Amino acid sequence: MRPILYHKLGNFDLWILSDGEIWLDGGSMFGVVPKNLWSKLAAPDEQNRVRLGLNPLLIRTQDRLVLVETGIDRKPGEKFRRIYGLSQTSPLLDQLALLGVRPQDISLVVHTHLHFDHAGLNTSLAEGRLQPTFPKARHIVQKQELEEALHPHERSRASYLRENIEPILEQFETVEGEQEILPGLFVVPVPGHTLGMQAVELRSQGQRFAYTADLIPTMAHTPLPYIMAFDLYPMTTLETRKKMYQRWTEGNYLLCFTHESGHPLGRLVHGEKGYQAEAVWP
Ligand SMILES: [Zn+2]
Repeated sequence: MRPILYHKLGNFDLWILSDGEIWLDGGSMFGVVPKNLWSKLAAPDEQNRVRLGLNPLLIRTQDRLVLVETGIDRKPGEKFRRIYGLSQTSPLLDQLALLGVRPQDISLVVHTHLHFDHAGLNTSLAEGRLQPTFPKARHIVQKQELEEALHPHERSRASYLRENIEPILEQFETVEGEQEILPGLFVVPVPGHTLGMQAVELRSQGQRFAYTADLIPTMAHTPLPYIMAFDLYPMTTLETRKKMYQRWTEGNYLLCFTHESGHPLGRLVHGEKGYQAEAVWP
């Protein structure tokens, strides 16, 4: 498990946490890119799976604690954990505890989208019953994402687990389009992986930061055509990437890559080979 990474961004304190790792099929992760190329970027295991990180964020504003994403669902049981190479318990709550943060201290959860590897700790099992993990938190999500999560189709059904959504329905607060949720904290629609996905941006004292959601899951996915086969609308991903890459490059945004298993912070640079990501150690 990656240790907690701290970064001060203007008025915000930022901790990049880890909820461990997930192993997913390398071919699915790299879409149309042939294996002899992607395997040089991410070494597959004997099941052709590649290692991915799970990197939720904790943000401290002047008067609030905000969590961006809630890690992966481990509740479906042993077989599920074996398929995805998951540890039995979640490191996320342990890391919050290390920082002295109790689940009830989180007043806001911001969701990029509601897939089981991003919203898994919305609920926890206690004495055989599902309970909200963050009982005092409002959960911010795009309206379209919540609607699709509640009415998934055959291709998205395995990604939206009801146990992470229905027990906390009253805690959700939906937004539409780009919005400033708290001073300097924005959500920005980045459709493609799902139509309702959103990135999270922070702007403070001239510094800019973006949490990429699954628009750029790892630094290796930065080239424009390196789009996951999981994306429901890959051509929409391509359009969204062109728009956001320009914005994040011109604005000199520090990026956090949601599924990076190594160092998760970097910047986009545009050169002869198109867009690439460079790691940044703050
Ligand atoms: Zn994901």
